[in-house]
Amino acid sequence: MLLRAWLHRLRQAGVRTHARHRWLGWGEDGALRFATPEGEVAWAADASVLALGGGSWPQLGSDAAWVPLLAARGVPVARLRPANCGFDVAWSEHFSDRFAGAPVKAVAASAGGAFVPGEFNITAGGIEGGLVYALSARLRDAIERDGHAALTLDLAPGRSLEKLAADLARPRGRDSRPNHLRRRAGIDGVMAGLLREFGQIDGSTATFGLAAAIKALAVPLVAPRPLAEAISSAGGVDFAALDERLMLRDLPGVFCAGEMLDGKPRPAATCSPPAWPPAARPGRAWRIGLSGSRATGSADIIVMTANGLRVVRRPCASEEVFSTLLPRYIGRARGRRIAPCDRVLGAWRRGSFLP
Ligand SMILES: Cc1cc2nc3c(=O)[nH]c(=O)nc-3n(C[C@H](O)[C@H](O)[C@H](O)COP(=O)(O)OP(=O)(O)OC[C@H]3O[C@@H](n4cnc5c(N)ncnc54)[C@H](O)[C@@H]3O)c2cc1C
Repeated sequence: MLLRAWLHRLRQAGVRTHARHRWLGWGEDGALRFATPEGEVAWAADASVLALGGGSWPQLGSDAAWVPLLAARGVPVARLRPANCGFDVAWSEHFSDRFAGAPVKAVAASAGGAFVPGEFNITAGGIEGGLVYALSARLRDAIERDGHAALTLDLAPGRSLEKLAADLARPRGRDSRPNHLRRRAGIDGVMAGLLREFGQIDGSTATFGLAAAIKALAVPLVAPRPLAEAISSAGGVDFAALDERLMLRDLPGVFCAGEMLDGKPRPAATCSPPAWPPAARPGRAWRIGLSGSRATGSADIIVMTANGLRVVRRPCASEEVFSTLLPRYIGRARGRRIAPCDRVLGAWRRGSFLP
């Protein structure tokens, strides 16, 4: 409806549309060349506006064939890369068979210091959907820079770590562990599958370790999906090549607009983690908690990083936690304010995190 109204208005203003004209570049005389069903035509123009899109979904027409045409005229063009894209994940065959196509709803995710509530979908080979797209630029850049990245999921965003741990610590009576997890934490189906896939938990994991895994489940990503499958493209014509009217400085009369421009704004759907106290915000402080099992000789060390909470599992005797591991993590946080979680440490000492 809106599109029809716009087209009507443009026609009223004298605009003529020439469908099925593919721009091929400039002729030697500077005229614009087009491939049409009737053969090639050339038109001289005082001004031209290129709004040729990026390189995603080329089957819809935006195939980035303009990139070499502009580059040949000396226009700097940043490599087109997938933006708002899905990612490959190395699911186990069992998980992929069982959950491909399943939505993961009412969760939150963090990456590169951003925190986004929302939902996404499991695919046969990875993840896609709004929440993933909102963080995709950060995740894509991290994979390019470091060779790896993880999407850190909060599977219970409405509850703090402490509250979740307290809920899970309630006696489970005759309930099976999965039933207890469903009733006390609302984790079942695909969420329970994700936890099994990447939570590094087993029957001996202590309550606090389980809660920490639910609040900060790192899903390792292999690679972004290809540009052709992305919702949009990053990269394009460098803004430095344009003047304030978006005219190419070196090609007077040629203007560029839309997705073909580099430096497009990022999605605005990111926000700070609402449940974390200000002092514990990433980059300002690290918060360190401990849980574990003296029986199994393992400890889960909860570390707050710029990417959110991370659980680091280490085999150790209980005394070693205090004498060796904790100082090492505090050492790593050198130069930052550190807020060890006294309540967690106290509970560890009392043994109330034992399974
Ligand atoms: C599946 C999908 C879902 C999306 N969902 C959303 C959404 O929910 N919200 C949102 O904001 N954005 C969404 N987008 C992104 C949005 O569609 C694009 O960002 C937007 O269309 C870019 O507009 P544009 O005019 O710059 O380029 P385009 O819309 O790509 O238009 C460029 C046009 O130029 C034409 N063209 C290219 N080369 C030539 C040539 N050589 N000669 C002649 N014509 C040429 C193409 O055929 C195309 O018609 C989605 C994209 C996809 C693929």
